[in-house]
Amino acid sequence: MRVTTLHGARDLRIEEHPLPIVSESTDAVVKVVAGGVCGSDLWWYRGLNPLPTRRLMGHEVVGVVETTGSAVTRVKPGDFVVVPFCHADGTCVACRGGVQSACLELGSTVGGQGEYVRVAHADACLFVADPPADDLLLRSLLTLTDVLATGWHAARCAGVAAGRSAVVVGDGAVGLCGVLAASILGADPVIALSGREPRQGLASAFGATQCVGSRGQDAVRTVRRLTEGVGAHAVLECVGTGDAMEAALQMARPGATVGFVGIPHGVELPITEMFRRNVGVRGGIAPVQRYLPHLAEMVLSGRIEPGRVLDREVTLDAVAEGYQAMDTRQAVKVLVRM
Ligand SMILES: [Zn+2]
Repeated sequence: MRVTTLHGARDLRIEEHPLPIVSESTDAVVKVVAGGVCGSDLWWYRGLNPLPTRRLMGHEVVGVVETTGSAVTRVKPGDFVVVPFCHADGTCVACRGGVQSACLELGSTVGGQGEYVRVAHADACLFVADPPADDLLLRSLLTLTDVLATGWHAARCAGVAAGRSAVVVGDGAVGLCGVLAASILGADPVIALSGREPRQGLASAFGATQCVGSRGQDAVRTVRRLTEGVGAHAVLECVGTGDAMEAALQMARPGATVGFVGIPHGVELPITEMFRRNVGVRGGIAPVQRYLPHLAEMVLSGRIEPGRVLDREVTLDAVAEGYQAMDTRQAVKVLVRM
């Protein structure tokens, strides 16, 4: 099968690899219909994560079940499925506690920007849906694998509540999904930090009541002005850099929580300042399976259209162009069509 492979910074190649196989009785192999390029893929692409050897890229997949192991009963070949990036067993103590992303038997999607993927714990992991009738629904289903659930996790961790203010740091696909989540959960105002179209337009469409285009301390001052002078009730940190976390903490009012879902790169917490202001942080890798049924229901009923964040589509052969478009912020998020 053909799959996107990263050999070093900005060195993407399409390579032939052996087809993934059912190696455990609880596995399935899924033929990829569409994969996503994630903001977290860009950390690798930009050479900001140590890359010991080549890496198979892609962990966001919707597709069709090709084969299943002997213990798989809930999904069958031919089913159209949403594949959460974390493959939880659904039974361990972490899963039972709702933290499927910290499953003790965790697997994950590898090589999703390719033709086939192996899925561990297929019965517990895969979400079966009717094949999408239109392209926007396909894209929205693809967001369920990661970015929508991650934005939702940021909102839940931040304690977003109806009638209370929320601010979202980051205007990538996760940040925009965070805006959507805060809006669905009834936050008011919902302040998006975004300076440019088409991201501002998407943020507004997803329920942002204000977009703040300034950066750094200017943005902190503006957000505080919009939130009774003290900062928001809930802050969603959807970037992962030290600067983003610093801004997020400064935009949190006393007693507030920063929900953080950006993969931390160079983040240090000012614990004394947090202690003094009673500001907390809570977050991590999104437990996709915990949120998936509820989020899928909103997608399938047409109540939300998170697929709008996927504003560029490429073929597998052109995947490098997709990465480049996201790297230069020409695209919010890229769909790779197999
Ligand atoms: Zn588990």
